[in-house]
Amino acid sequence: MQTKNILEAIGRTPLVKINHLFKKEGVEVYAKCEFLNPGGSVKDRIGYQMVLDAQNSGRIKPGDILIEPTSGNTGIGIALAGAVLGYKVIITLPEKMSKEKQVVLAALGAEIIRTPTEAAYNAPESHISVANRLAKELPNAHVLDQYANPSNCDAHYNFTAQEIIDDLGMVPDYLVAGAGTGGTITGIAKKFKELKPSCQVIGCDPVGSILGGGTEVGTYQVEGIGYDFFPKVLDCNLIDKWIKTSDEPSFVWARKAIREEGFLCGGSSGTALFGVNEILHDVPKGSKIVVILPDGIRNYMTKLMDNDWLSKMNFKQAILSNNKFSK
Ligand code: PMP
Repeated sequence: MQTKNILEAIGRTPLVKINHLFKKEGVEVYAKCEFLNPGGSVKDRIGYQMVLDAQNSGRIKPGDILIEPTSGNTGIGIALAGAVLGYKVIITLPEKMSKEKQVVLAALGAEIIRTPTEAAYNAPESHISVANRLAKELPNAHVLDQYANPSNCDAHYNFTAQEIIDDLGMVPDYLVAGAGTGGTITGIAKKFKELKPSCQVIGCDPVGSILGGGTEVGTYQVEGIGYDFFPKVLDCNLIDKWIKTSDEPSFVWARKAIREEGFLCGGSSGTALFGVNEILHDVPKGSKIVVILPDGIRNYMTKLMDNDWLSKMNFKQAILSNNKFSK
C-alpha cells in the first residue's frame, strides 16, 4: 500500500480471528485491531476526520489552533493531523492518563495541559471546561469537540463498520465495544443495525462510569472509556446490553490477549474482551462476534505492562495471567 501521507494510512486495520481466548464451540470471535493505526488507536480515525471536515467546511485553516479535551488518544489523532496539515495543537488531559500518551503528544508538537482527574465534567478545572475557556481566550482557536461532533460517528459509520463487513463478508451477529465518547460503538452499531436489525450491540463500561447504568461516579484505572455525563454522540438506543467491569478483570483480559493471541493491546481492549466472555453463554451456535480493540501496549508500558505497577495497585491476577496459558 502506497499513501500520500501518514494520515491516508489510517484505517483498513486487520480483522483477526481469536483462536485461544474463548472456547465456545460453533462461535467465532474476531478482533478489529485498531491498535494498529499509525498513531496507535481507533481515535486516529476521528482526529483526522474532524480536522478534515472542519477544514473542508471552512471552519478552520492551517495555522489555526486546535484545542481538544481528551483521554489522550483523540489528542494523538488530532496532533498527528496537526503535524501533517499545519495546525497548532493544545491538549487538555486528565492527570490519570499515562505519561506515555503525554510523551507521544509532545513529540508530535502538541502543548499539554494536565487537569485534575476527579473534576466533574462541568467543573471549571475539568479538561472540558479548560479547553472551552482557552478557545475563547486565544485567537483563531477551535475545539473540534469529539463529544458532540458528528464527524466522530461518521468516521466509524462510513469506514470502521464498512471495513468489518467487507472483511467478514457479512454483518456480524454481535458487536462488543467500550464507550468513551461513544462514537465508535454508535457509528458501527448504526451501520450494522441498518443492514441487520437483529445484530446485538454490547457496550462495556467501567464501574464508576454512568454510561452503562449506575449513578455512582468514581475513579478507575482503565483509560479512555466511561464518563460522568452522556456525550451527545453516544446513542444508547443502539445498545442492547451493557456489561459493567472493574479494573482487574480488564487488565487480566488485556494481558491474556497479549500472551495468548499476540494482540499488543491496552486496558480498554481487556474490558471489551471481558464483555465477550460474559455474553458467550447466551450466544447461539453459528454466531459471529466482532470485538473492538481500541489502543495498544505502547500507551501503558509503565502501567498495565509493568508488573511492579500492577503489584502496587493490587491487580495481582493480571500479573499471574501473564504466565498462565489458558488452553
Ligand atoms: N479505548 C480507548 C483506549 C480510548 O482512548 C477510547 C476513546 N476515548 C475508547 C476506548 C472509546 O472510544 P469512543 O470515544 O469512540 O467511545
